[in-house]
Amino acid sequence: MTKFEIRGVRADVLIGADERQEILKGVDLTIDSGQTHAIMGPNGSGKSTLAYAIAGHPKYEITAGEVLLDGENVLEMSVDERARAGLFLAMQYPVEVPGVSMSNFLRSSVTAVRGEAPKLRQFSKELQGTMKDLSIEASFAARGVNEGFSGGEKKRHEILQLELLKPKMAILDETDSGLDVDALKVVSEGINRAKANSDVGIMLITHYTRILNYVKPDFVHVFADGRIAESGGPELADRLENEGYERFVKAGA
Ligand code: ADP
Ligand code: MG
Ligand code: MG
Repeated sequence: MTKFEIRGVRADVLIGADERQEILKGVDLTIDSGQTHAIMGPNGSGKSTLAYAIAGHPKYEITAGEVLLDGENVLEMSVDERARAGLFLAMQYPVEVPGVSMSNFLRSSVTAVRGEAPKLRQFSKELQGTMKDLSIEASFAARGVNEGFSGGEKKRHEILQLELLKPKMAILDETDSGLDVDALKVVSEGINRAKANSDVGIMLITHYTRILNYVKPDFVHVFADGRIAESGGPELADRLENEGYERFVKAGA
């Protein structure tokens, strides 16, 4: 049983040498293993900032609060330590690493997280099988990391990592953005396999309710102006689908 806790988190985005702006204004959220929490909300409400701040992105600074994974302070861990502790943050992975093949990159990631290198043949088999499940071409394994990946390929790659790394807690930011319906289904099935094969807790950040038709959330939270404005069950997503975010957006904003 894993518990992921975000407590009173405030964070600034660092804009220039001495310019900063507070984006997160006190975020509280607890995710237990096996649960899927959808974080929804208008554009610019700070959803990605929450993900980046937890990932330790240098452009964001947490000024108050804490983030705990099974009671351990995530914010004091290096990026590697976060991964080894079982936290999966899709966007922390390298943007583009030309010269390093996808298969080597994935095997090193798996080695870092598991603490020992998987047997090559076994890993290749697992990789090929998971790629097939995600409708990723076999030639992909030989390509450079993220080199010339399309938006859809990047998203499939995120889920490929999720399935291979088997984290305790995964934060997925806009995994559905830019995907056509077929790709959305493939990616959603990958998330659902990860859920079925382990007890992973998931924070699924999305602007649109569309993905929630495929990946069923246990809880839905509306993010507005840097904090959670409302929480509910899956029915809240249906309500947002009908009503939009209007009542959560400040007049004149
Ligand atoms: P969301 O993911 O909900 O659309 P973001 O977290 O991306 O929202 O953005 C929240 C606010 O923070 C926006 O007003 C955005 O312009 C600002 N912001 C985020 N990152 C940066 C950045 N690197 N530089 C300047 N402003 C930023
Ligand atoms: Mg489950
Ligand atoms: Mg965003």
